[in-house]
Amino acid sequence: MRLLLVEDDELLGAGIRDALERSRYLVEWVRDGAFGLEALRSGSFDLAVLDLGLPRLDGMEVLRQAREAGVRTPVLVLSARDTTTQRIGGLDAGADDYMVKPFDVDELLARLRVIERRHRGAVDNRVGHGDLEIDTAGMSVRLRGRPVALQRREFLLLRKLLDHTGQVMTRQQLEESIYGWEGDVESNALEVHVHNLRRKLYPSLIRTVRGVGYVVDPPAADAGT
Ligand code: CA
Repeated sequence: MRLLLVEDDELLGAGIRDALERSRYLVEWVRDGAFGLEALRSGSFDLAVLDLGLPRLDGMEVLRQAREAGVRTPVLVLSARDTTTQRIGGLDAGADDYMVKPFDVDELLARLRVIERRHRGAVDNRVGHGDLEIDTAGMSVRLRGRPVALQRREFLLLRKLLDHTGQVMTRQQLEESIYGWEGDVESNALEVHVHNLRRKLYPSLIRTVRGVGYVVDPPAADAGT
């Protein structure tokens, strides 16, 4: 996932870049609006994070000109301008989401994942993770091209973990995603599903975080299958 970061504040930019890189993005960071527009128009990015107050060319103008030029890359706008007018202006100019500074970097990551999912959903329903390929519409899973039969709850659990790749999910979050509000969940039901997924797919896919829950690490960090 190639991400363009357009931010002129050195400290903030470095913080965002580091967090994004830890979360599997390949980040290209430019520090002014003119470079930002040029980079967006090159079409080589899957996603962009764009500040509004920028040297040379204002972020809003970058976005407007990029959209006019037919650039469809999803853009999340960052801004210190916390007024409804600015927010609406940003969305009108073609932003996919809008965050006001100061913000929590985890929230930024979560919002980027939502944008990606929305964008990906418009294209197809397949989610890849290393050697795994998941068809969310058909609820089917392939490992190195071979179909793997999963029960519905195993599929839901896998899906939840993959949607939050790199993020530790608590037992409660996972139980809710596979059982909804059914209540009465066997105390070891989650462990059984995790065990089955590891056995049917591969053991290192799901990592146990003792006392908290489980996480699927980004593919590059996998110890191997
Ligand atoms: Ca700025």
